[in-house]
Amino acid sequence: MIIDVHGHYTTAPAALGAWRDLQIASLKDPSKAPKPSDLKISDDELRESIETNQLAKMRERGSDLTVFSPRASFMAHHIGDFQTSATWAAICNELCFRVSQLYPRHFIGAAMLPQSPGVDAATCIAELERCIKDYGFVGVNLNPDPSGGHWTSPPLTDRYWYPLYEKMAELEIPAMIHVSTSCNPCFHTTGAHYLNADTTAFMQCLTGDLFKDFPSLKLLIPHGGGAVPYHWGRFRGLAQELHKPLLDEHLLNNIFFDTCVYHQPGIDLLTKVIPVKNVLFASEMIGAVRGVDPQTGHYYDDTRRYIDGTANLTEEERFLVYEGKARRVFPRLDAALKAQGR
Ligand SMILES: [Zn+2]
Repeated sequence: MIIDVHGHYTTAPAALGAWRDLQIASLKDPSKAPKPSDLKISDDELRESIETNQLAKMRERGSDLTVFSPRASFMAHHIGDFQTSATWAAICNELCFRVSQLYPRHFIGAAMLPQSPGVDAATCIAELERCIKDYGFVGVNLNPDPSGGHWTSPPLTDRYWYPLYEKMAELEIPAMIHVSTSCNPCFHTTGAHYLNADTTAFMQCLTGDLFKDFPSLKLLIPHGGGAVPYHWGRFRGLAQELHKPLLDEHLLNNIFFDTCVYHQPGIDLLTKVIPVKNVLFASEMIGAVRGVDPQTGHYYDDTRRYIDGTANLTEEERFLVYEGKARRVFPRLDAALKAQGR
């Protein structure tokens, strides 16, 4: 099987964005807020948005199943308060659930959390539990910076986040560390803020001792780990200076990287530097980089080509990247697949 662990519903029908615009416009006058029931999207509209986009590309490129979460840049946790995020997250998660019901062999959900800057992380637990228990989701996206580029939250190793980690450990789900839109003009959302956050999350974990408290916790750092694989020597050296254990022992039982780097040399470097056991296939397709690479004639996000094309992986290792590790990092995904006889 080919499991893509990083997909977002970037192609949701326009009614979703229109509802969100109304919600944002109503922040100054809450009585005008749209009700969740005002959003009407039919199953046919969902099918149309998936079959002409993600599913068409999955068939064309030969991937079988996508772990599917709400559009990351739309999470925009900095907008409004907790209630704003709670209503918005519930709507976005439900749409992903409906997609997973329409195409149970192709999509399975990962939850967006109703985070809000400065609000107790435990407030996210109810929505998380609903997604895992009622919707059959298998993972969660955790935003380390709900302020949208101003980094007002404590680092991921801080006890502030522990209620979520405790719940994740109990539910046996990994978190993808995924920021949302940047409202800081210094940081382009997908070109700088996302990659900064990936690098930052890794360094926060390196500095702390989070996995001593949560030995089973699994964090997936997307976009190839930001700058981490390229600067692996720097991180190894910093860990040494900070008198931390070797990275393999300190972080690599708990931290994983995906393959969303959009070119062959990036995948070659990732698979050479980072142990294969820590690399999971993902393409984040129809996401940040949607064009065709003029050097290759193929879409940048046609990531399977790079995995198939790298000389660094044996067939056995390729299996691990495509399927084997995803089943280990997402135990609920493995269980759902087994229930389908896969
Ligand atoms: Zn993403």
